[in-house]
Amino acid sequence: MILESSSLNFILAFAAVLLVCGVILSYLSKNAQQTNTEDDLVAKLNAALPGAQCAQCGYPGCEAYAKALAHGEVTCNKCIPGGPDTIEALASILGIEPPQDEDGDDYLFMPRTVAFIHKSPCTGCSRCARVCPVDAINGAIRQTHSVDPELCTGCGECVKTCPEECIEMIKLEPTPANFNWDIKSIRITGGK
Ligand code: SF4
Ligand code: SF4
Ligand code: SF4
Repeated sequence: MILESSSLNFILAFAAVLLVCGVILSYLSKNAQQTNTEDDLVAKLNAALPGAQCAQCGYPGCEAYAKALAHGEVTCNKCIPGGPDTIEALASILGIEPPQDEDGDDYLFMPRTVAFIHKSPCTGCSRCARVCPVDAINGAIRQTHSVDPELCTGCGECVKTCPEECIEMIKLEPTPANFNWDIKSIRITGGK
């Protein structure tokens, strides 16, 4: 009888250990799945961003912005170099409607930020042109340089490099020349 009771206790203890192990394994597996899904989402969002690492979104780089988007900490209209196409792509990945401000679809007219070189202080040292990742700066050595706003992504690298401090980041006013005509759809809000 004593042997039977101790056997029963052993079986119960063994079952309890198995149960605890099962709960721990299930928790770890759920956690791993969640991490994978989150990593995939961050990777997709990051791939949809322009990769300029310019921090104009308020985050230190594209991946940091992608992580904040995946955690729902920020809206998807903060990447200035990306413009409307990137907003649409991010919204599609997140499965949400692109954000609208109080005035409706104003983000479609979001001005791009580009570098501008003030001519008179420029010595033509060409340091800015050497760091520009997209070859947007033109000019011969010892002659004033200029930025091609069509190519400039607004990364700001040239501003940090100029010894004369003659490069300024400016917002382009939306005009027919720089307006993004490649609009996929126009939403009509209000009315019936
Ligand atoms: S503004 Fe856009 S390109 Fe610049 S770091 Fe942020 S996400 Fe990247
Ligand atoms: S011109 Fe300056 S801000 Fe524009 S892409 Fe080149 S380095 Fe970046
Ligand atoms: S780094 Fe400054 S001074 Fe040198 S070429 Fe560029 S704008 Fe001119």
